[in-house]
Amino acid sequence: MKNELRHIKMGFNNCYLLEGDKGFVLVDTGFDEQWGKLENELIAAGCLPDNLKLVIITHGDIDHIGNCAKLQKKYNAKIAIHKGDLDLAQKGNFPDRVVTNRIVKISMLIEAIVDKLKKNKKSIPIFIPDLFLEDNQKLNEYGVDARIIHTPGHTKGSISILTDKGDLICGDTYVNIGKPGYAPLAQDFDEIRSSMDIIKKLDLTIVYSGHGIPFSSDKLSKIDFTKTSHLK
Ligand SMILES: [Zn+2]
Repeated sequence: MKNELRHIKMGFNNCYLLEGDKGFVLVDTGFDEQWGKLENELIAAGCLPDNLKLVIITHGDIDHIGNCAKLQKKYNAKIAIHKGDLDLAQKGNFPDRVVTNRIVKISMLIEAIVDKLKKNKKSIPIFIPDLFLEDNQKLNEYGVDARIIHTPGHTKGSISILTDKGDLICGDTYVNIGKPGYAPLAQDFDEIRSSMDIIKKLDLTIVYSGHGIPFSSDKLSKIDFTKTSHLK
């Protein structure tokens, strides 16, 4: 059975395209101003309205949900999200986050970029999700051998997608900017720690993050959780 994963590098954020025998599942959609880039990548991969089976949003931040409304309209795509991020996705804003001191410079950089992009925008296209995904839900009915892992922390409804090959698309639970680390911004760092424990127990090969380049799963054991100095 076909089971391919394509990395779509959008800029400082990533999307991923899974291809199975029956069609495609897109994971994350970028900022709305990145539509042209996303559409070109979909066309190049052979992903068209009739074979895009599902769009999964790893979490409700604007750098991941920006093209959901367009995909619903132009591709007639079904958008799936975890219920925990429904509010976040519909408000279309970047909530206040607890920031860790450990990589505060990275956090500030990300925040500055997001802030700049938000100021350039009139409004974020609002969409209504078509379905909710739950922990351990299999994706076979959408044509790919993969399942959902609920990995809250960065946001309440953050989810990861684990393929049967052992690839993990982890949203922003881990990022790889400079080196692999856990989310520099989080709604709840205790939940991040629990999610890291869940992920470490999985049989993985490569981790595909929402930001930065993919990394080998053996690096996960070197990422320590340091809760000593989280700032508000
Ligand atoms: Zn992000």
